[in-house]
Amino acid sequence: MITILSGGTGTPKLIQGIKKIYDEEEINVIVNTVENDYFSGVYVAADIDTVLYTFTDMINEDTWYGIKNDTFITHERLAEIGQAELLRIGDKDRATKIQKTLLLEEYPLSEAVDIQRKKLGIKSKIIPMSNENSEIKIETEEHGEVEFHDFLIKYQGKPKVKSVNYSKVNPNPEVIESIKKSDKIIIGPSNPITSIMPIISLKGVKDELIKKEVVAVSPFIGEEPVSGPAGKFMSASGHLSSSIGVAKIYESFLNTLIIDNKDLDMKETLEKIIPNIKITNTIMKNIEDKINLAKLTIEN
Ligand code: GDP
Repeated sequence: MITILSGGTGTPKLIQGIKKIYDEEEINVIVNTVENDYFSGVYVAADIDTVLYTFTDMINEDTWYGIKNDTFITHERLAEIGQAELLRIGDKDRATKIQKTLLLEEYPLSEAVDIQRKKLGIKSKIIPMSNENSEIKIETEEHGEVEFHDFLIKYQGKPKVKSVNYSKVNPNPEVIESIKKSDKIIIGPSNPITSIMPIISLKGVKDELIKKEVVAVSPFIGEEPVSGPAGKFMSASGHLSSSIGVAKIYESFLNTLIIDNKDLDMKETLEKIIPNIKITNTIMKNIEDKINLAKLTIEN
C-alpha cells in the first residue's frame, strides 16, 4: 500500500505512471484542499477533480484542469447574460462540480469525493486533506492581498509575491490512517508551498511521516520550477527556489529525493540534507517518462 501526496499538475502526471505499474486498489492519494472555493454557485475542488479525471483518463492534459474535449456552452452563456466567471469551467466538468456541491449538502467532503470516485469506477482512494473550508491569499507588491485564483488567472501569476497565506485546518482523519497503513509515502513533484506544505503541516502528519519511508520528486530544475509560480512562492516564503529549497522543507522526514539529470551539480550539497539522492529525467512529457519516474519512486 502506498500513499501519494498531491496537488493538481505535477503529481497527477506521476500518478499516470504509477497506476500503470502498481495495483490501483493499493494506492491512496491525499489531495490538497486549500485552493477549494465556490465559483458560479458550485464548489470547485480543482485538484481533487484533476486527480479524479487522471484516474479515469479524462483529464485535459493541456491545462491539467477539467475534462478533455469538453464544451463551454454554459460558461459562454453565463458571460452573455452578464455573469462572466473567472474560471473557465467546461460543461461536463461542471456536472462533476454540481454533483459534489449537492453531495456536500448531506456529506462531508471526504465522503462526497468517495461517492464520486466509486461512481467513476476508481479503485484508488482519493482523500481530501481536510473537510474544512479554507482560504488562500497571495500578498503582492502591486495589488496588496489577492485571492489565489485571481493571482493565477486575473493577474496571470505576474505580480511580485511578498507572502503566501492560507488557513490552518484540521486533517480529515483518513489522512493519518492512510499514512499509518502505507509501506511508502510518495510526494509528487507538486508546488511545495501551496500544494504539499498545507498537507504536511496538518496536525500529526509530520509525526507519522518520520516513521515511514518517504520519497519525493523535485518540481524544480535549476532555479526554475518545471511550470507555474512555485519559484516565486518559495522565495517569498524564505526558501531557495531549487531542489535545495525543496530538500530543506522536507528534511525532517524525507528519505529519498529524486532530482533531474541537469541538477547533478547539486548532488553533493543535497546529500548533506537528505540521505538518498536519485538522479534521472524528471520531465514527464510522455507515458514512458511517467512510468520511468514512477518506477524510481516505487522501488527501494
Ligand atoms: P497545482 O495544484 O496546479 O499548483 O499543481 P501542483 O502543485 O501539483 O504542481 C505544480 C508543480 O508541478 C510545479 O511546481 C511544476 O514545477 C511541477 N511540474 C509540472 N510538470 C512537471 C514535470 O513534468 N516534472 C516535474 N519534475 N515537475 C513538474
